[in-house]
Amino acid sequence: MDKTILTRAIEAFGRRSQILKAIEEMAELTVALARVGTSEDINSNEIIEEIADVSIMVEQLALMVGARNVAIFVTQKMQRLEERIDIRREQS
Ligand SMILES: [Mg+2]
Repeated sequence: MDKTILTRAIEAFGRRSQILKAIEEMAELTVALARVGTSEDINSNEIIEEIADVSIMVEQLALMVGARNVAIFVTQKMQRLEERIDIRREQS
């Protein structure tokens, strides 16, 4: 994802505005996902588009707090996820 455009968005619209936009986009994805299995299919264009919206906003949030700081937690949490997968495999 182009960090220059993401940084420009934060500078152009302001942090508070982009935080509120992130909340809005996450809510839209939440609503779309809640409909999966009823009126919505996981592969619907609406869900794909909302995932894209959230991805763009999450990247901006990461830039605000320091993408490197987020990356450290991502690495740790991916390791924990892998451990849980391994435990599940041992149990089955
Ligand atoms: Mg949206």
